[in-house]
Amino acid sequence: VTVAPALLREGAMQGRGVLVCFEDVTPVEKAGRMRRDFVANVSHELRTPLTALMGFIETLKGPARQDPEAQARFLAIMEAEAGRMNRLVGDLLSLSRVEADERVRPSERVALGSLLRSTLNGLAPLAAEAGVDLRDELPEGQEGPEVPGDADQLRQVFTNLIENAIKYGGRGCTVRLSMQPPAYEPRLRATGVCVRVADTGPGIAEIHLPRLTERFYRVDSHRSREMGGTGLGLAIVKHIVNRHRGRLRIDSTPGEGTTFSVILPVD
Ligand code: ADP
Repeated sequence: VTVAPALLREGAMQGRGVLVCFEDVTPVEKAGRMRRDFVANVSHELRTPLTALMGFIETLKGPARQDPEAQARFLAIMEAEAGRMNRLVGDLLSLSRVEADERVRPSERVALGSLLRSTLNGLAPLAAEAGVDLRDELPEGQEGPEVPGDADQLRQVFTNLIENAIKYGGRGCTVRLSMQPPAYEPRLRATGVCVRVADTGPGIAEIHLPRLTERFYRVDSHRSREMGGTGLGLAIVKHIVNRHRGRLRIDSTPGEGTTFSVILPVD
């Protein structure tokens, strides 16, 4: 509430008065709280690997100085921790870049079929190493349909989704990438194309689904960190899909698997 002296010129109340102004600051407060939470989360996420690195540096300088075997082991852990920090910083940069241009509609024309196939091929070695059967169920020999978009960002969407399916699906699971022919999408009020990344992994309990695209939200923090996750992958996906005026749908049945559907408007 702000109170200020005011000069009243109209109506019956001419003369000196006060102006009392009520303003609903809920959105401003909420934005401030979200920013503070975000900074606290980032600091925590960066501090964890940093503390580990500092601990190992001390050990290498002291007790492990004469022990080559321990040195090699510690260096491998340090490399993994530094990699984690590097991924986190990379994801933070991606997120801030997408947020910055979320209002600008991307104007490139992207041949979705080619983009999906090359993304899939790029991830085949990762799937093979993880013992996951990664299947191409895209319409054969098609480059299209073309969507107005940003090719790098769309590649990131499908990379994040397929990597998650491989990571959380685990050994022995099947991951399918498919694309439906363009059709009218009532939720977009436009013709859209639907791309699906479906896995036969452990699935996600329903209560987690609405919060899954929040920054740093994880179903199982320990497991996510162990897998090298930053907790930002799906937040980035959501922002990129929003920027493309598309929709992200998550369907999951615990014990059976999860399907992420990305619906993008086509011209
Ligand atoms: P992270 O870096 O932890 O993988 P994401 O934002 O990509 O972060 O995903 C958020 C959480 O959603 C993950 O921690 C994981 O618990 C869950 N998740 C994402 N994809 C899948 C999937 N295909 N199957 C099961 N759980 C998933």
